[in-house]
Amino acid sequence: MEERTDIKSLLPEELQSFMKKLGEKPFRGKQIFDWLHHRQVESFDEMTNLSKDLREKLKEHCVLTVLKPVQILTSSIDGTQKFLFALEDGNVIESVLMKYHHGNSACISTQVGCRMGCRFCASTIDGMVRNLTPSEMAEEIYAIQRNSGAPVSNIVLMGSGEPLDNYDHVMKFMDLITHEQGANISGRNLTLSTCGLVPQIQRLAAEKRQITLAISLHAPDDETRRSLMPIANQYSIAEVLDACEEYFEKTGRRISFEYSLVAGVNDTREEAKKLAGLLKGRNCHINLIPVNPVKEREYRRSDRKSVEDFQRILKEMGLNATIRREMGADINGACGQLRKSYQEYNKKKEGEQ
Ligand code: SAH
Repeated sequence: MEERTDIKSLLPEELQSFMKKLGEKPFRGKQIFDWLHHRQVESFDEMTNLSKDLREKLKEHCVLTVLKPVQILTSSIDGTQKFLFALEDGNVIESVLMKYHHGNSACISTQVGCRMGCRFCASTIDGMVRNLTPSEMAEEIYAIQRNSGAPVSNIVLMGSGEPLDNYDHVMKFMDLITHEQGANISGRNLTLSTCGLVPQIQRLAAEKRQITLAISLHAPDDETRRSLMPIANQYSIAEVLDACEEYFEKTGRRISFEYSLVAGVNDTREEAKKLAGLLKGRNCHINLIPVNPVKEREYRRSDRKSVEDFQRILKEMGLNATIRREMGADINGACGQLRKSYQEYNKKKEGEQ
């Protein structure tokens, strides 16, 4: 049997050729793109300007990716919502909706699990299961909008997974979501966060997209970084910073550095000074994140005073640094924890039966 087409992963021009292949008029492709990515409908039957015959043909030849929430947690403090979505194959992923004065932001996953192995991160504990498809990533946004009623204007690729380890699908996802005939989200409102895959950062720089690149740095020297992030054995901080420079030169976009503060590991004044020395003179922004404790890991978050001292030193040395405001503290749990607790709950239930 021929493989069914993942129709929500196709751009308008690809949909037009697909229509030709099905013996239909190419303009149908544009109409379908509008239904899928602009109106964001959940079924072919809602596509009322297509004939019944064509809708039946589409059902036969295509898969229509639609994410259904299996759990939604809402913070009573700030309205942040965490979604656990079920995929077609039974896997589950997490996405988050954060509400800010300047608009709503969605934090989405790019893989089921992750293989980067960062020691403080919950997403990587059971490794990587598979890459998400472009349609699944787009659906994270559309399903959040459908289920919350809140329009999403900003997207951060900071959920589970390493986006640059799923390069082609993530680029296609960005093409879909920024398309003016679809959701039409500006590239400038998209942030891609990476643990620092140097060749892929260079490849991304050459694409000259207008997105913000965020780098998970987390340490001011290679030795400390290696103790937190296995990827640091492959690429030195100097190599990562060179790639960032290239990204800035080619795109003109200021780089964001994420620095998760872990008590007794990377949060001393000395380390703040070292970090400032490393980043001084670069057009960048530093985001300080008190680490979210993960129950399977022994890392503790730095206390308030250390976090503030760290920020003050960076600022005194001329750097632009903010402390990330904690959202949804009552539904807390770092990325990947909701999915993990859901899996554990299901395993326990299976054991009881
Ligand atoms: N793989 C990408 C994007 C996903 S993680 C990356 O590494 O950047 C998004 C950010 O959250 C990264 O900076 C990551 O290091 C950080 N992070 C992961 N677990 C965390 C935790 N428990 N506490 C604080 N930050 C965490």
